[in-house]
Amino acid sequence: MRTVDLGHTEAAVCSHLDTIRSVTPSSPGCEDCLRIGGRWIHLRLCMCCGHVGCCDDSPNRHARAHWSATGHPIIRSYEPGESWWWCYEDQVIFEVEGAPKALSHP
Ligand SMILES: [Zn+2]
Ligand SMILES: [Zn+2]
Ligand SMILES: [Zn+2]
Repeated sequence: MRTVDLGHTEAAVCSHLDTIRSVTPSSPGCEDCLRIGGRWIHLRLCMCCGHVGCCDDSPNRHARAHWSATGHPIIRSYEPGESWWWCYEDQVIFEVEGAPKALSHP
């Protein structure tokens, strides 16, 4: 896995790092699943707007749907203890130096 230093983005593996914002998670679970009564396996957090969606192993794949709907390409894992990030556009997994290691949710 590559590590990205946001202060030196010229070496970045992903060209969308300037879309990253300091976001507040929108929901304790996949907000779209919660709305329709769906179930999810793992959670993903959009780093552009804080949308919480479910992973590609989940039946409804809301994180991917959010990318399709909004064009927000970068998510990070919203699972406790996981610190990897993913860009749907570049299809690259990376870690961000200095980012909080673990987010927790119920
Ligand atoms: Zn990218
Ligand atoms: Zn979902
Ligand atoms: Zn978003």
